[in-house]
Amino acid sequence: MDATVFVLITSLILLVYLVFRRKKSNLQWNAPVIPFPQEHKAILLKHVLYYTNLNSEKKKRFEFKIQEFLENCRVTGVDTDVFDLERILVASSAIIPIFNFPDWQYTNIDEVLVYPTSFNERYETAGEWNNILGMVGNGPMEGKMILSKQALHNGFDNESDKKNTAIHEFIHLIDKTDGTIDGIPSLLLEQPYTLPWLDLVHKKISDIYQNKSDINPYGATNKVEFFAVVSEYFFERPKQLKHKHPELYKNLELIFKQNLAESHKNKSSIEINRNDPCPCGSGKKYKKCCGKVLNI
Ligand SMILES: [Zn+2]
Ligand SMILES: [Zn+2]
Repeated sequence: MDATVFVLITSLILLVYLVFRRKKSNLQWNAPVIPFPQEHKAILLKHVLYYTNLNSEKKKRFEFKIQEFLENCRVTGVDTDVFDLERILVASSAIIPIFNFPDWQYTNIDEVLVYPTSFNERYETAGEWNNILGMVGNGPMEGKMILSKQALHNGFDNESDKKNTAIHEFIHLIDKTDGTIDGIPSLLLEQPYTLPWLDLVHKKISDIYQNKSDINPYGATNKVEFFAVVSEYFFERPKQLKHKHPELYKNLELIFKQNLAESHKNKSSIEINRNDPCPCGSGKKYKKCCGKVLNI
């Protein structure tokens, strides 16, 4: 065989391989191979109220999605340790907003960096203006997200402040999936609903300016931040949002395909006794299952 022909054929094979490999990694996430660990169920039960509020069939689906996310997106501590708890909180924040989109796989993230505290635009934790709690990277940071570890924990530990930084950042990432971060999640919201949504956003932002709103004033920054801020509210206090902002609630229910106000219960109203069947759905008694792992 002629040397040129050989080189040509070899490069062609290589090209076909590269194209297909890229396609595969872009479209398909690796599936989890091991069963969901018991300790991780216990972590979810203790820290992720959203999970506790799911029925046992949905819990299984949630566990799968958590595992799938962690299989395909690294969670890396920067100047701080990251344990299973942090990894599971990050994954939960990713899955909660898109839980009712069964085929959803994030294609625009491969690593979440966890910083010990808040940071500034130059990613320094000690410098000036170090009040950023989370951000979605672009440019050289494309495909990365940064979260403050403190804010990650606060988002799940405090169930009444309508704040969850990690969910906020994943909302930006979802917003970005259609190509632009513009406060309109085109992949979730169908075209005819876009204009009414924008009208409502303007009205609600002007309420914030006039001090007539209980929505975090940061939401008045622009429609992008408004969408992220009210989504935090929706996932943390769905009943309150429905009561105080029925139209906004209806829109978010439509966007996320979740009627949370119906199923949501506060931590204090969920009581598990030692001898009850474990809420993780194992069929064992709580004291012999997750209760044992949690030392209760
Ligand atoms: Zn934001
Ligand atoms: Zn259990």
